[in-house]
Amino acid sequence: MTNRKFVVVTAALPYSNNVPHIGHMVGSHLPADVFARYQRFKGNFVVFVGGTDEHGTPIEVEAIKNNLTPDKLTDFYYGIHKKIYEWFDISYDNFSRTSKSKIHYEVTKRIFLRMYQSGVIIEKEDELPFDPKNNRFLPDRYVTGKCPYCGYEKAKGDQCENCGRLLDPKDLIDPKNAITGDPVILKKTRHLYFDLRKITEKLREWIEKKVNEFSNLTYSMSVSMLNAGLRERSITRDIKWGVPVPYQELWRITLDKIFNKIDFSSKEKMIYTLIESLKELGLVVEPEEEANLRSIVERNWPKIDKILEEFNHFDVYKDKVFYVWFDAPIGYLSFTIELLKDNFTIEELEEDISNVKILSLGESSAEIEIGEIKFRVTFKDSLESLEIIDIDPPYYFKYYKKIIKALLNAKQKRIAKNNINWRKFWTEGEIYHFIGKDNIPFHTLFWPGIIMSSNLYEKEDNIFDRPLTLPKNVFGYAYLTYEGSKISKSQRWGVFCDSLIDSEIHPDYWRFYLAYLIPENKDTSFLWDEFVQIINRVLVDSIGNLTHRILKFAWSNYKKLDGKADTQVIAIAKDYYKSVCNLIENGKISSGLKKIFEMSDKGNVLFQENKPWEDPKNKKPFIKGMLIYLITMYSLLSFYIPFHSMEFFRFLGIRLTREEELEKILEKPDEYNFEIKEEPKPLFKKLDVELISKIREIVTKPKY
Ligand SMILES: [Zn+2]
Repeated sequence: MTNRKFVVVTAALPYSNNVPHIGHMVGSHLPADVFARYQRFKGNFVVFVGGTDEHGTPIEVEAIKNNLTPDKLTDFYYGIHKKIYEWFDISYDNFSRTSKSKIHYEVTKRIFLRMYQSGVIIEKEDELPFDPKNNRFLPDRYVTGKCPYCGYEKAKGDQCENCGRLLDPKDLIDPKNAITGDPVILKKTRHLYFDLRKITEKLREWIEKKVNEFSNLTYSMSVSMLNAGLRERSITRDIKWGVPVPYQELWRITLDKIFNKIDFSSKEKMIYTLIESLKELGLVVEPEEEANLRSIVERNWPKIDKILEEFNHFDVYKDKVFYVWFDAPIGYLSFTIELLKDNFTIEELEEDISNVKILSLGESSAEIEIGEIKFRVTFKDSLESLEIIDIDPPYYFKYYKKIIKALLNAKQKRIAKNNINWRKFWTEGEIYHFIGKDNIPFHTLFWPGIIMSSNLYEKEDNIFDRPLTLPKNVFGYAYLTYEGSKISKSQRWGVFCDSLIDSEIHPDYWRFYLAYLIPENKDTSFLWDEFVQIINRVLVDSIGNLTHRILKFAWSNYKKLDGKADTQVIAIAKDYYKSVCNLIENGKISSGLKKIFEMSDKGNVLFQENKPWEDPKNKKPFIKGMLIYLITMYSLLSFYIPFHSMEFFRFLGIRLTREEELEKILEKPDEYNFEIKEEPKPLFKKLDVELISKIREIVTKPKY
């Protein structure tokens, strides 16, 4: 109990204008899930968070195309995403969404203001494409026009597809709105930028310490980007759909910073010193703004308060929001806070507790059952509140709010204080990000840069009272193709998860093959022939066969397995256990599974060589050893195929959910007795060609 770690696992936030395909599963959700299950098995406190990334122009545009509001559009896609990950048994503790979370808005705002206080935020003016008819700025790729180099008529604002040159929308001849065809002009606009140059050295120092922890790919991509030089990145956009820029707080903070420099002795001096002070902070002051200030001063002089209330340098940000790249990663943090706040009042807990049973309720502990899982909760009871101190097993925090609500109801209390809160995870814990490789620099430079700059501002507030933790590791995976070429929804090329969940094949079978495909070093490809082979030859012929032979042999000859166990067999199991754990710990999820394949093959060889059928009477220790071998193997398999692993343990009438329990069996096998509870049936079924051709028709067509 004492060495439990606090572990945060995150999967890349899917953008909410699309349905996921298998490439998304193998690139983040599935490896993150295997890792989270592994960490829970280790006995650590794990919170596994994810959610849909719902802001930004592409959502706005997609909504307009479909004649929907962004709000309705993201509701629709959130529903699809959530259903898919639930079907795949991705064990998210909180799968949330950026646009519907008040906490996310608040946390984004606070982080931004802390960054501004640290001096890493600057302001710049630029000329960006603007559509006067629809009165809106357009992102580069939504502008088309004639390429100045090759004359191609439909070049996009960021790149010409014909000659391949990278473009700026300013280069295009006769630029148009790509969707409506309306003409586009260039218009001046101001934006806030995160100046990464100011923290480059801090980032370098941190990354260089990660040389042995990061994979070669993660490390080399990060270092080469650092060496190429980081620049400023804009963090605001001229759209409405997003987290609003807190322009009033921003002005208040700015006034605090410059107040002593303003000379109030005359109108002229005030205007001059105020504007100079703003410029010193790296802010852009246009002649129009100066004129505006002048007229406000004329109207209100000498009422200083009134002037500073009416004049706000950041007024133009009223209609701007944060750029989606900025608020999205903050979701990892805000979704954890959403789940594990410091306090809960009974009014906030909208959880359904109809299936929660309180088995026992004492002065300082309670036993609670949800579904098949029993939780032991330790708490401190006082007149006004209940303080949650510990929970065992420390897994599936998705049940946490339910447990708190049930306890509060039973104790007739209104407030629960929470000792296992988000701070433990984000200030003392280990953070692991699972992403596609294109997202590596983002998670090793920009995101840690955001955390570092927020930490630079040392003043505490009621959310951030100590520095946040930087990522422990960032696991970036290569790409998955489909039958050898790139997955494409528009070309109907791939396996699409919204249709896949209608297939008659159990999710564990998909998880098994997809985990095998997780591209650790280089791209892999989904191949139907290989899918059938991996299921039929490995899952059924090797793993299933080994399982059935041993269970069946034990059932027919002994039923109960007590007494001595073959220590040689157990020693082999221990070695495999260690090496699989070691691989998973380092993000090598596919290699871990392949090691289990070896373990299963080895088990079949051991059984074959030992020939227990020739002398069943004297083979009980061997079969008991082999059963423990299976128990070890299914402990590992439970990260990959959770449902069927539980089925295996059901034959034995046990539930093994913690490494601690497994270790006891492996250390003192003679002291544990096992019983085969019911006649074993084969756990897995082969896939036949007919079923596959039927399924193939279904899953290769996206529904939406
Ligand atoms: Zn061109």
